[in-house]
Amino acid sequence: MPSINDLEIYAQENHVPIMMKTGIEFILELIRNQAYTRILELGTAIGYSAIRMAKLSTLIQIDTLENDPERAQLAIANIAAERLDTQIHVFAMDIAKFQTDRLYDLIFVDAAKAQYPRYMEQFRGNLAKGGVFVFDNLNFHGMVEDPSLTENKGTRQMIKKLRRFRETLMHDPDCLTQFYPEVGDGVAVVGLLRK
Ligand code: MG
Repeated sequence: MPSINDLEIYAQENHVPIMMKTGIEFILELIRNQAYTRILELGTAIGYSAIRMAKLSTLIQIDTLENDPERAQLAIANIAAERLDTQIHVFAMDIAKFQTDRLYDLIFVDAAKAQYPRYMEQFRGNLAKGGVFVFDNLNFHGMVEDPSLTENKGTRQMIKKLRRFRETLMHDPDCLTQFYPEVGDGVAVVGLLRK
């Protein structure tokens, strides 16, 4: 049975972006403090964060979406090995095609960074009363502050979009945003005043 530690090592060796240590600790603390039980995760990767979250309580139910079929399969295997398959449901599909009328206390967004504004639009109706969105990687390894850290054109486009999204979150009168630049790779907790 792979342990949490094995998953961390696998992710590192195979360049799978899983949440940074302070980021995952932060989100676990948030779930504990708020007693959140209904979670939607966009971007399963290998199931690392979903497993960490599900282990907090048997009452926690997680729907998690991953559009890379190989990663989704690996996540399903990792989740089964932890015997968490009654708590975590992996949907191997394009996020844009996922539709549900379920309500979630926490919508954790860790998928394609350029799509963050679209994800927020798509799922704002699924946020339960008192629920929040959490967005990961809003610093994108310091590149949002300092785009000269990358020469890659696609990455530069993406970080420009992330920067714009960050500004929107801070200034949108419908959003209550707390941005934690020092947590993980930059995490924002966003509540909605109107849906
Ligand atoms: Mg991430």
